Formats: sequence, C-alpha cells, structure tokens
Amino acid sequence: MSSTDKINNIVIVGGGSAGWMTAAMLSKQLECNAKGSKVNITLVESDNIGTVGVGEATIPPIKTFNRMLGIDENDFLKHCNGSIKLGISFENWPKKNHQYFHPFGRFAVDFDYIPFSYFWNKHRASGDNKPLHDYASAWHLAKNNKFSPPSPDKKSLFSGFDYAYHFDASLYANYLRSYSEKRGVKRQEGKITKVDTHESNGFISSVTLASGQNIAGDFFIDCSGTTALLINKTLGIKFIDWSENLLCNRAIAVQTCHTKVISPYTRSIAKQSGWQWRIPLQTRMGNGSVHCSEFIDEQSAMDELISDIDGEILSEPRVIHFNVGRREKFWHKNCVAIGLSAGFLEPLESTSLHLIQRAVMRLIAHFPNKKCDEVNTKQFNNLTVTEYEHIRNFIILHYKATKRDDSEFWRYCQHMDIPDSLQHQIDLFSSHGHLNVDANDLFKQDNWLAVLTGQNIHPTTVAPIMAYKQKIDLPRTMNSFYDIMTKTVQKLPNHEDYLKEKCPFLIK
Ligand SMILES: Cc1cc2nc3c(=O)[nH]c(=O)nc-3n(C[C@H](O)[C@H](O)[C@H](O)COP(=O)(O)OP(=O)(O)OC[C@H]3O[C@@H](n4cnc5c(N)ncnc54)[C@H](O)[C@@H]3O)c2cc1C
Repeated sequence: MSSTDKINNIVIVGGGSAGWMTAAMLSKQLECNAKGSKVNITLVESDNIGTVGVGEATIPPIKTFNRMLGIDENDFLKHCNGSIKLGISFENWPKKNHQYFHPFGRFAVDFDYIPFSYFWNKHRASGDNKPLHDYASAWHLAKNNKFSPPSPDKKSLFSGFDYAYHFDASLYANYLRSYSEKRGVKRQEGKITKVDTHESNGFISSVTLASGQNIAGDFFIDCSGTTALLINKTLGIKFIDWSENLLCNRAIAVQTCHTKVISPYTRSIAKQSGWQWRIPLQTRMGNGSVHCSEFIDEQSAMDELISDIDGEILSEPRVIHFNVGRREKFWHKNCVAIGLSAGFLEPLESTSLHLIQRAVMRLIAHFPNKKCDEVNTKQFNNLTVTEYEHIRNFIILHYKATKRDDSEFWRYCQHMDIPDSLQHQIDLFSSHGHLNVDANDLFKQDNWLAVLTGQNIHPTTVAPIMAYKQKIDLPRTMNSFYDIMTKTVQKLPNHEDYLKEKCPFLIK
C-alpha cells in the first residue's frame, strides 16, 4: 500500500457509548499517540443534542473489551457506578408467577463430551422437577446475592460461570472519553449542519458545524444515534424494520433509590404489553418499561411503571421512542455505522453495547485503505447481518415461547409467524434436545437451553445417545452437583461486600 492510500484522518460523528467505545479502541489499535504517528481521530458531538443515556446492562464479552483497552476492573467499577451481573431473572414470561434465570456461563459440566442438558433431560424424564438453573453456579450466587470471580480451579463447579456488569452508560462514555483523549483523540463540540461528498465517487469528504468549522476526513464513522446522519441522511442507506416479530417500540426510564440489597443480576418482568427492567447499580436502581404503543398508551405504561417500582424517584421519567431493525448495509463507501445508527435490537438481552464492541473489532480486522475495497466492505456487511439475525432470533424466542394469553399483546406474540431459522431451532430442540449453534454465535448451547427450558419448551424424547450412557448414577450425580453448589455458595462473599472492598467510597 502506498503511503498516499493510508487512512490518516478519521472522523467519528457522535459521542454516546458508540462514539466513545469506537474512539477508545481505535486510538489504542491504531497507536495514535505513538511517536511519529500521523493518524488523527476527531470525535464530533453536540452537547445540545445529547445522548440516548440508557444502556446499563451488559453481557460477559464487555470484560474482554475493557481488558483489550487495558482498563483495570476495579477502577472501572469505581468510576462507572458499576455492579456485577450474573444473568437475567425472567419473571412472568412463560406464564404469570413463573420465573427462570438465564445465567452467564455454563450449567454444571458436560460428561464424556455429551452436553449436560441431555443428562438433565433424562433425569427430568425420570421425575426430577428441579429447573435447569438449579444446576448453574451463577444462579446459586445470584439468588443468594453473592459474588466472587470464577474459580481458577477447572474442576470446581464454580469455574464455569461468567459475569458482566451493570453501570451508568453516561459515566462509561466519560470514562472512555478521558481514556481516548489521553491517547490523542480530539473532541470537537458542535452540531453538524452539513455533510459534503466527493462528486467523483460519492465518498464523504467533510462535515461542517453550525459554527462554520469544516472537518475533513478520509474515513467516517457514524455514531450519531438514531439520526443516522451519515449512513442514512447522507448516503441514503435504508432501515430494515423487524417490528413484525419484535413489537416493542417505546421505553420509559426512571431511576430510584435502593430499598433492598444490590442484587448481582438484572430483572426482566413481563407485563401486559411488554416488560419492565430493574438494573441495580451501586448507588441507585435503573427501572424501565419496554412496551408496544399499539397495545398500551403512554400514560397507562407510565402509571404501570410508577406503581411497580420501589424507592424514592431520583429522576424525571423519560420516554424514548425506538424502532427495531437494522440498516440494509452497515458499511457503505467510506462510512461505517456503529451503534444506534446501525440498528437496534430491544434491550431484553442487553446486546446493544456488545454489537458496538463487535462492530469496532470487526472494523479493525477489516481496516481499509482510502479506496475502501468493495469486497472488504461486503464481507463486513455479511458478517454483521448474520450477527444481527442471530441475536434477533434469540430475542424473538422469549416472546414466541410464552404460554401467556391474558392480553392481546401476548396472544399476538404466541401466534405470530417467526423466521424459519428460529422455527428450525425450536423444532430441533423439541424433538431430541439438539441445537444448531455455530462457533461464532454469541448465544451458545447453554444460552438457548436456559431460555427454551425456562419458557417450558422441552424435548419430547430423551436424546437417543443416553440409552448407551449407563455407567453414570444419574440421581446421585445430579444431587451431588446441587448440594455442592448450595453449600459452596454459602462460603462466598456478599455482592455488596465484594463491591465495598473493590470500590470503597461509593456504597455508604
Ligand atoms: C430503552 C433502551 C434501553 C437500553 N438498554 C440497554 C442495555 O441495557 N444494554 C445495552 O447494551 N444497550 C442498551 N440500549 C442501547 C444503548 O443505549 C445504545 O446502543 C448505546 O447507548 C449507543 O447509543 P449511540 O452512541 O449509538 O447513540 P446516542 O447515545 O444517541 O449518541 C448519539 C451521539 O450523536 C451525536 N449527534 C447526533 N446528531 C449530531 C449532529 N448533527 N451533530 C453532532 N453530533 C450529533 C449526539 O450528540 C450524541 O453524542 C438501550 C437502548 C434503549 C433505547
């Protein structure tokens, strides 16, 4: 590559979680502050427009993202009002007064290269009624409000669980801003009022602020949120709507004081026309309603949320409108969309920050020269589509697999047509307990199992291979797993004590 082809001027439009996560990772990977580096990264954000300001629950790969940036976990927890997340408690989803836990990490252990779930299903068929989550160490920790990092001893049943964080999204963006600025990223405040393109090839050439300042670049990253200023407003890439299966299109967010212990898990509580979240941060609780405006009006959703929350209200409830779906293309010409400008899958499984993380890492892996070769951009787009569709299917499963028929909303969900690929997954599992999981998929065997069995979808027969597995004394083994987990967890620290030790100044 000749030096004139090399991208040296990158402009990131937007300073929400997407903008600053992108700036932080690019500044690190492109070695912006290395001696002699000619790479300039400018991030433009408008204080007047602001950010969406939600996005408080994450999934385990966020730890890898922070680690790649060299961020110390305790420092991050301290500055971002962070707490630990071991999974999600789904309440009233399969039916009313029914709960299951989607834990991070694994269920017990596989034996002899056969998935643990096959043994569990055989045990269940012989009359055991313990739910699958009773064999997950993350659930034992969560329900007892305990936390200690996974054991390094691979033989321990507490080595296979995983964890993520709850944190304040605005504090995380500030934290990454400070990280990025130290590594040479230039922040420019101001509202972009004009975007120019090259006449010859339609590539973006510069953005102009309301002040008249012009910022030129070789490569542009659209992190402008749902405005999609570059990818849609400038380059005309359309949005593919997925609301046929993912009906929710409104959220109301409100913060409250803690009234109880700080639980190390998110709660998702199904309501008449959607669901509510409870996300416990160190110093406050994040609460919200996610619902569909065709089935419940704003005032009723607000009343329902306010009547359900505990503790003094700390913030004015905020209504957020959103559309679920994705861009037709994520990378077009010399512009990549990352964050809400690229698409949105509702927050049920806390996947949006993860999609940002994946997009940034994928961009680094496919980093272009100034020509932005189409083969390369096509590959990036194909991989991203697969990822979005995989997550979409997993989220739809929660709605489709409900047995609730107490409202129009749930009746629609129960009877809606779903993508063939998801129907295949359900059919495959329902027959012998097998699952179609690819190595690159975000949600692995144990994630699918948690939701399928939690929502009361079970294989109609025990996996045939189990007829050959006679050596294991199943009742004894399963009971011993449960007993070990129950007893071990009692010896581990409380989640709050763990946080107090790691970040002493936040919790009173
Ligand atoms: C209700 C709800 C709950 C969510 N919960 C979760 C969750 O639990 N976990 C999770 O992972 N994700 C969650 N998300 C998603 C998450 O909030 C977003 O993915 C994340 O915040 C990224 O947003 P963003 O940076 O793309 O956009 P934004 O935060 O909207 O930022 C857009 C930026 O662009 C700038 N901008 C826009 N136009 C201009 C202009 N003309 N000139 C200059 N600057 C401009 C703005 O100033 C701002 O800085 C949730 C989303 C919603 C709606």
